Amino acid sequence: MARYTAAVCRLCRRSGEKLMLKGSRCITKCALEKRPRPPGPPPARRRRISDRGGQLREKQKVRYSYGILERQFRRFFAEAERLPGITGENLLVLLERRLDNVVYRLGFADSRAQARQLVQHGHIILNGRKTDIPSCLVKEGGVISWREASTRTEYYKQLAQSIESKTIAVWLSLDKQKLVGRVLSLPTPDDTETKFEVAAVVEYYSR
Ligand code: SF4
Repeated sequence: MARYTAAVCRLCRRSGEKLMLKGSRCITKCALEKRPRPPGPPPARRRRISDRGGQLREKQKVRYSYGILERQFRRFFAEAERLPGITGENLLVLLERRLDNVVYRLGFADSRAQARQLVQHGHIILNGRKTDIPSCLVKEGGVISWREASTRTEYYKQLAQSIESKTIAVWLSLDKQKLVGRVLSLPTPDDTETKFEVAAVVEYYSR
């Protein structure tokens, strides 16, 4: 599956915001704090961002945060348009329901990129079945656990010791002894970790 492989800090510098794409490193050693300007050579003169440019920037911010490429993001947007309700809100809910995001929001990984890797490497069980598709959507009542063999890894042992200090999303619950998570209810647009102006994303795609 195609994925973004260049330096992720460039994405934060491009967005002009800390998107927390590197987990704990974002708190201790942030590239944006060191170089708070877009990547590449500085422009000869400061340019005003157009409405379209602002919409693009917001769309990219959402996409970078969830770590997905344009094609898949468009598919999510098309699905959000098909669902009843407000398209922008539907989009955020769909993105939050992705399995890699849920693994991240349960505190099993420091970043969505790491969560994605855990899923792709087959460590995660969804509703009793090994699921290695990061974009798989969880449903209310869904149970997220670890593959038996993965509970013997060093990563799992360290996680079991540090899980107490992690913050879990309010729409999820976690048994901290067994490291088994459950989807208590579907997320709402207010449950995202970063606040986005989704109306700008909808505007961007409606041209
Ligand atoms: Fe973004 Fe984290 Fe890199 Fe800072 S350290 S620029 S928040 S990815």
